[in-house]
Amino acid sequence: MSETNNEVSKDQKAGSSTDSSSIINRQSSTDSQSSTDSQSSIVNCPLSIAFKVDVDTYAGTRDGVPRLLEIMERAGIKATFYFSMGPDNSGKAIRRIFTRKGFLQKMLRTGAPSAYGLRTMLYGTLLPAPDIAASFPEILKQTAARGHETGVHCWDHVYWHDYLPRLSRDKVSSELRRAADLFQRIIGSAPRSTAAPGWTVSATSLELQDSMNLEYCSDGRGYAPFYPVFDGKRFYTLQIPSTWPTLDEILGANGIDADNVNDFYLSQMKSGLNVHTIHAEMEGGVMADSFIELVERLKLMGARFVTLGEVARACRDSAPDAPLSMGEIPGRAGLVAIQG
Ligand SMILES: [Zn+2]
Repeated sequence: MSETNNEVSKDQKAGSSTDSSSIINRQSSTDSQSSTDSQSSIVNCPLSIAFKVDVDTYAGTRDGVPRLLEIMERAGIKATFYFSMGPDNSGKAIRRIFTRKGFLQKMLRTGAPSAYGLRTMLYGTLLPAPDIAASFPEILKQTAARGHETGVHCWDHVYWHDYLPRLSRDKVSSELRRAADLFQRIIGSAPRSTAAPGWTVSATSLELQDSMNLEYCSDGRGYAPFYPVFDGKRFYTLQIPSTWPTLDEILGANGIDADNVNDFYLSQMKSGLNVHTIHAEMEGGVMADSFIELVERLKLMGARFVTLGEVARACRDSAPDAPLSMGEIPGRAGLVAIQG
């Protein structure tokens, strides 16, 4: 289950918006000799947007992914889907009510119980945790077959999100390996990308991701693609951060509701690359109509829809190093990886 916050956001700081477009613009000029026209236009395009789809739960995989595939097919856009491969232990996230200040309030503010459903909120506690990807291999295959990018979100979302900093290297390795192995068995090739659950990383997770030969990761929040320097160490896998707050972070805060949330999002659209994380459980569920409207309005603005893989290929030779650290964002319970 995704966590939520009120971050409205790092991107709203005037400085970071300006910085981000200048980084993108710098990249486009230094990139121009080595890139194809198509690649360079991704970063040159004044309004590019990539949808990163986090799939967190059993129900989200079963119901939300097919709905999003349908919506995207109709709109003629491609996205990058990250699947939770192992058990759905969403019910265990409920214990954050006792361990993270503000968690209960946020769950209620954002309507999490109706978005996620009662069964999901009991998985791993009163109900057994169902296997996600193994239950719906055809949905993963279908996503790839329809031309979307697919990657690994995690093995056990709640376990990673709540315990990563305390896990041994072997344990972190086993979470990534189990997820990657099952992904390979279903999709037929090794994952090219991962995205950390709850934007939670550690030096160990970044190092292990480097060893997986990934093309890029999307682990954090920030303003433009970069190579992360975390705890003083530089890592080698390109990071493409999410630049917009997620729907469940902003709904119910600062006067934003289901009726005006897309006005807020369009106001976030900045020159250059925008990356928006959506959730199969939200935009593929109770908020599907709102997502359809967002896509239509982005099209009317003349936005260019790109995938994270296209961004990675356009930026990998020229992306700068930048700090990445776990930090608090106002209104959020817990820490997230933030580009410095
Ligand atoms: Zn997630």
